Amino acid sequence: MFSLSSRPTINEIHKLYESKKATPSQVVQFFLNRIKETDKKILAYDHLTEVFALNIAKEQDKTLNFTDWSEIVKKQPLFGIPFANKAIIQVEGQVFNASSKILKDFKSPYSSTAYLNVAKAGAIMIGVCNMDAHAMGASGESSDFGVSRNPFDTTRVCGGSSSGSAAAVASGQAVFSLGTDTGGSIRQPAGFTDLVGLKPTYGLVSRWGTQPMASSLDQVGPLTNNVEDNATVILALAGIDPKDQTTIDSNNMVTRLNKFLEDKNKRRIQNKLTKTNKPLRIGLPKQFYINGTDPIIKAKLEQIQTKLKKIGHTLVEVDISIDVNDAVAIYYMTCAVEVASNLQRIDGVRFAKQEYTNTPDKEEMYFDHRLEFFPDEAKRRIMLGSYASSAGYYDAYYNQSQKVRAVAMDQFDKAFQKCDVMLVPTSPEFAFKIGQKADNPIQMYLSDIFTCLINPIKIPGLNVPMGLLPCQTGEIKLFDDTTQEDQNLPMESERKRAIAIVNLKGTNQFVVFSKNGDPTEFYNNIDTKFIPGGMIEEGETAIVAAARETEEEIGLQNLELIQELGTCRKLLKYKDSVANGLETYILFQVTQENWEARIKSEADDKNYTVELATIEDLRGNNWNQLNWILDILEEKIPLPENKIVMLPAGCQLLAPQLSEDLLYSLAMDIEQIR
Ligand code: GLN
Repeated sequence: MFSLSSRPTINEIHKLYESKKATPSQVVQFFLNRIKETDKKILAYDHLTEVFALNIAKEQDKTLNFTDWSEIVKKQPLFGIPFANKAIIQVEGQVFNASSKILKDFKSPYSSTAYLNVAKAGAIMIGVCNMDAHAMGASGESSDFGVSRNPFDTTRVCGGSSSGSAAAVASGQAVFSLGTDTGGSIRQPAGFTDLVGLKPTYGLVSRWGTQPMASSLDQVGPLTNNVEDNATVILALAGIDPKDQTTIDSNNMVTRLNKFLEDKNKRRIQNKLTKTNKPLRIGLPKQFYINGTDPIIKAKLEQIQTKLKKIGHTLVEVDISIDVNDAVAIYYMTCAVEVASNLQRIDGVRFAKQEYTNTPDKEEMYFDHRLEFFPDEAKRRIMLGSYASSAGYYDAYYNQSQKVRAVAMDQFDKAFQKCDVMLVPTSPEFAFKIGQKADNPIQMYLSDIFTCLINPIKIPGLNVPMGLLPCQTGEIKLFDDTTQEDQNLPMESERKRAIAIVNLKGTNQFVVFSKNGDPTEFYNNIDTKFIPGGMIEEGETAIVAAARETEEEIGLQNLELIQELGTCRKLLKYKDSVANGLETYILFQVTQENWEARIKSEADDKNYTVELATIEDLRGNNWNQLNWILDILEEKIPLPENKIVMLPAGCQLLAPQLSEDLLYSLAMDIEQIR
């Protein structure tokens, strides 16, 4: 019997075939078994295509038996390689529902060119992956069938929308996967899960048979465990397709890339790179190096820059003259308009649910159907996109965004005269917690701030893992098991009370605000009145605590508050799913001039109770839930910054259109020096 590593590569599997230690059907079966064992925790797959995969594998067993290995692999570079497919890259006869209720049982009548191309190269689809429904999202949480979990920390998202595609490869449940990237959906999840992920030049890969999100932005691309695998898969995917008129001639690039890969054996044995084979001018566009990127990610990126310089590359600062925040605006405007148009085909007639088809009023039928089955994110974009492209507003919004898009293309062209490849972060942050941004679409959109401009300007972007980095979460889990959780549920009266406690600077006294009744109201006021973001600096301690009554009211608002403030010291606790009585406690440091006077006058206005208290007073306050916060203040529980998790982060390489070979060349260097 053979064995495989936790995240096998194409080369590892091919060695097994070459030495006749395993057959394709054994390898496929191995992965299917692994999925059955591990995917309950990860939820990478919507469904497996077991019979389909084993049938193909059995045919390949025969080929392996009767044909010379070098012949096989020359013709089929992905021979016998099990892969996971995104739920919009259609395969004839299989269910492809974009992880959406509205298309739940939809079986594809034909296969996408992308699928046919990798299948022709010998790859075997073993399952269909989970994703943000209709590819809208950056976390996988918009899937109608559950959230894929990050294999490095299952309380976190994998990124999105190709969430399952990332989860499958990062957890060793497939050798590679296919994703689609409209604004970051391959690169951002690849960054969150330690994978190489390519958004190809627009037109390099056919979109035929891939359910469209925004047609002028969408591209299919691979997620893999290493650079070499990625290049191998893209070579299979690329090519002109008469069925997609936006596909372009890529022969020159393909020749260069093939040549580069021929070198791979030589590269494989080189384990320490001291000098690069291909020195490049690496551009650092200053607009991507902004405050707000996690300092650990920033520091690692700087370290990589230094190492690249050391092995012979040149670093040049470049200016793209486009603010990355404007990039988000260009992207979301273009995207929403195209989404609104593309989703019209899901009109409640062609993919109708029985219960609606008999409604006599057809307009009502479309409406009810779409209202019930489209996820919120799809509705948001249909509304925004329809509005922005309507006769009265077209010029002001959509047209304007296309003008800025043209300017951005021009700026990048100019910048690429000064450099060959650009090196930027992939995402400003580590994989975030499940639930952390679910109710805040704007925060979610910002996760793609460094990826979403790349699609409108059509150039290729590649995520390259920088390794696992220490991410300080500052989270203390106090209630790890349910029994304890139950015991600690707030009393009815506590749940109706909201409280904020602020430690006065330089004293051991606290100001306590409390208000009976709706905590939401209380929080809205704290947010806008008491703790304006600009005024908070590191210094004193403030505690905000709230008890929430229903699951819908989980303290997400508090999280947003803290994120907005941007200076939060640490999030202490965030429980996201206790049916009866949810609570969120947040500890952060503030220094504020005239804090006390200010608070008092605000509180008077708002009719809050304000009292001065010591820790003893607070302990006597009869709110059990507060005690552990007080323990932290009295240092009976270690401070939250002690908690560190190792999480992956990626950097992103950008190059002019049809220069994927340059991206891979630099990526291989990074793979060796990081
Ligand atoms: N997160 C982005 C969005 O929701 C990107 C999606 C994508 O690339 N498919 O639009």
